[in-house]
Amino acid sequence: MASKGGLFGTNGIRGEVNVKLTPEFILNSSLAIATFLNGNKTVIVGRDTRNSGTFVSNILKGALLSAGNHVYDAGIVPTPALQLAVKNHADFGIMVTASHNPPIYNGIKCIDGDGTELEDEKENEIERIFNEKSFKLKEWSEIGRYDNITGVNHNYVFNVYNNINKEIINKNLKIVVDCSSGAGSLTTPEFLDSINIKFTSLNCNIDGNFPAHDPEPKEENLKELIRITKGYYDFGAAHDGDADRIVFVDDDGNFIAGDKILGLFTKNITDRRNGIVVIPVTVSKMVEEIAMKNGSKVLYTKVGAPIVARTMMKVNAIFGGEDNGGLIFPEMQYARDGLMGLAKMIELISERKSKLSDLIKELPEYYQKKGSFKIPQGKSSEIMKIIERDFEKNTIKIDGIKIIEGDSWVLIRPSGTEPLIRLYAESKSRDDLENIFKKYSDLIENIIKEIQ
Ligand code: MG
Repeated sequence: MASKGGLFGTNGIRGEVNVKLTPEFILNSSLAIATFLNGNKTVIVGRDTRNSGTFVSNILKGALLSAGNHVYDAGIVPTPALQLAVKNHADFGIMVTASHNPPIYNGIKCIDGDGTELEDEKENEIERIFNEKSFKLKEWSEIGRYDNITGVNHNYVFNVYNNINKEIINKNLKIVVDCSSGAGSLTTPEFLDSINIKFTSLNCNIDGNFPAHDPEPKEENLKELIRITKGYYDFGAAHDGDADRIVFVDDDGNFIAGDKILGLFTKNITDRRNGIVVIPVTVSKMVEEIAMKNGSKVLYTKVGAPIVARTMMKVNAIFGGEDNGGLIFPEMQYARDGLMGLAKMIELISERKSKLSDLIKELPEYYQKKGSFKIPQGKSSEIMKIIERDFEKNTIKIDGIKIIEGDSWVLIRPSGTEPLIRLYAESKSRDDLENIFKKYSDLIENIIKEIQ
């Protein structure tokens, strides 16, 4: 996010191991978090399956203890399993994960005592301590206590089990799950066994080298899942490395775009009850159309899972998520939850008694196009100001500038990490999409020329 100073990205601290994430960097980041906690807090630490997981978490745990916090090590757990354990048992949580990034990466993600990812203001405070190196260590006699905490994964599976309607589940469903050799390997097969569903598992053995494919659940990484699912299974599903996300492949072997999954769940949930669905501004208007048709409302937020989750909490939303497979079901917890997404999909398919491919075809059709434009370093706010000045009407300024023209919209926003302006466009017809995309591409290109 543009507002952040550099230590935290949209999903915590992240970098290549022994490049950015050197022992010294991990220690200083950890001491900043430990100082922020101010001692005497219970902290659960978990990690995904990366080979560097113990290296990072051992430095982190030492730093927490030296500042007088009590550490409980949960070992390898999915991020949502850690979040649930923190909500129920601790003051704070830290997940050592780089989510979907290649194996050379790792990262540190902070979970607040309510089980939801830490808000920006608190991350900024940690960043200030990090930059000032104003670390506070305790006397030897006040150093924290350390222990392992067992059963975090099992308890999480049990909670998902308790949050679905077992009576309606069709036991004849056949599914394939790809855990990407990540932390979901320890929970998703156990859950499927518990509800007696027939399933085939792919890459459900933990392996920090991610031998089959990088743990990013995108179409090009899931060729094997798609090949196996097509024609033989009711659907396929895949997690990222820390299993807070889930994506789906239908019975025809089509990889389903994330906003269609949001649309499908929004339809199913708002068919039954009205309320607020929370999504970031980048998501297709299809979700809003479905919600409105059912008398429900959509609330748009800035991009970033912690913002979506915390907004859901504030407005008591009935559902929310991101278009990258991050689904949040508030009846379980305000966290992106890959296994809960799978459980809810099993429930949905059982209840609707339709093929997933047919359910997807029923959704309203929208066309989308994305582009990005290189800009000179440090010029993004100048460019955004010019666009803002030229388009006063029909704009939504939640994150970047969203301009609405009839059934079409574009979103122009600077990248948080690279010197780029991103353009998202969506329309109900292919022709309108091409026209609006060209119009705003030309506009951005002209402004970039002007300021050079
Ligand atoms: Mg993830």
